[in-house]
Amino acid sequence: MDNKTIYALSTVYGKSGVAVIRISGKNAKQVIKQMTSLDEETIKPRYAYFVDLKTIVTRETIDKCLLLYFKAPYSFTGEDIVELQIHGSKAVIALVLENLSQIENFRLAEAGEFSKRAFYNGKMDLTQAEGLADLIDSETREQQKYAMRQMEGNLKNLYSGWREELLKVLSYLEAYIDFPDEEIPQNDVFKLENTVFKLSEDIRKHLSNNQIGERLREGFRIVIVGAPNAGKSSLLNAIVNREAVIVSDIAGTTRDAIDVHLDLKGYPVMFTDTAGLREVEDAIEKKGIEIAHQKIEEADLIICLFDSLKDSVQLFENIEKNFSNKLIFVANKCDRLPAEKIKEFEKQNCLCISAKYKQGIDKLIDKISEIISSKFTTNSNLLITRERYREALRETVENLEKFNLHKEIELSAEDIRLASRGLGKITGQIEIDEILDKIFGTFCIGK
Ligand code: GDP
Repeated sequence: MDNKTIYALSTVYGKSGVAVIRISGKNAKQVIKQMTSLDEETIKPRYAYFVDLKTIVTRETIDKCLLLYFKAPYSFTGEDIVELQIHGSKAVIALVLENLSQIENFRLAEAGEFSKRAFYNGKMDLTQAEGLADLIDSETREQQKYAMRQMEGNLKNLYSGWREELLKVLSYLEAYIDFPDEEIPQNDVFKLENTVFKLSEDIRKHLSNNQIGERLREGFRIVIVGAPNAGKSSLLNAIVNREAVIVSDIAGTTRDAIDVHLDLKGYPVMFTDTAGLREVEDAIEKKGIEIAHQKIEEADLIICLFDSLKDSVQLFENIEKNFSNKLIFVANKCDRLPAEKIKEFEKQNCLCISAKYKQGIDKLIDKISEIISSKFTTNSNLLITRERYREALRETVENLEKFNLHKEIELSAEDIRLASRGLGKITGQIEIDEILDKIFGTFCIGK
């Protein structure tokens, strides 16, 4: 990272009422000097100034703008920041950016560079930076809620708290390494082993949350399976009509799996309509069937849909054997079923619907969101939102499990050192240049 002053458009490029350009670095105030008639020496931090923004050379007015100055270290990045709120016109934005590029030691920010500087200047740890990225990416209420908690530091506090406990153990052990003739008192051996054991239990419990955090970011996977003509596409359409569609990622022919992303009562959900599960000769359909099996394995929930006029739950015997804990049975075409047959299906724990006439869809949606939300209530508010955290936590537990005080003290200390390194990798408290670029590279410019 160089020490140039960086600038970028922080709002989306295009026509809008207001666009924000952010400038951060030790020369940020040069904008005030070179592009406005304000005195950069006497400007007050955190005051809004309504000024004419001018070109550097010809002093022509580009736009009337609102200018704010944040003095280091009391800014997002911890550096001097000048923020320009200009009109969201493509011409104005281009002209302002072009003039900024002419100021000495100024350059366009790279993706995520503002956040990276905030991290380097101790304004946030990596989990908070990633929480901010998730907040910006959030599309549903629950995504927003958890991203906000992470940005406020819930994971940071948890992980750095654990790490501090380990560092205390480590410093105790290191004191004894320096005095090899002394033995650790038995009472302390017991206490230390207990602390480490309890920590490893806590982390293991935290790890057992079944990837809810990752699902919250990426969407819960729901697969609709059933024989051809059971009404899978009709059901998917009926659900889509009810709920807000986020993205529709319609792949290939109707015989391939089709993914549809929805906001289901605040939870992001990805529905997959699969090709029929019967064995067929047709090559394309065979491919569809392979995809279906893979999707079933990966699914969080499987909707077993059958034509109630000719089939029953027996159709799913094979799936039930392997995935009984994540199935919902749904009888379709109930619009043509007599009331007593409907009762029979209901006794077998089936939801009775008509996809075509959109009956029972709300009940099904309620049932799905109930199942998803129950996964949250059985877990704490501290969700592991990234595979990166999960890997580092596993590494930590592995090292803690190796720990005991019946071996050479240097080896015991090394277990603790490696375990705390695992936690430090998550929060960014150890040298981790190699992972920083990867993390901040996924941010957009101006963030
Ligand atoms: P898929 O092959 O499982 O995707 O089934 P489709 O959604 O294409 O539906 C197959 C046929 O069943 C179509 O002719 C639909 O109109 C019909 N169908 C689907 N749902 C219902 C329903 O609830 N009631 C009735 N009567 N027909 C339905």
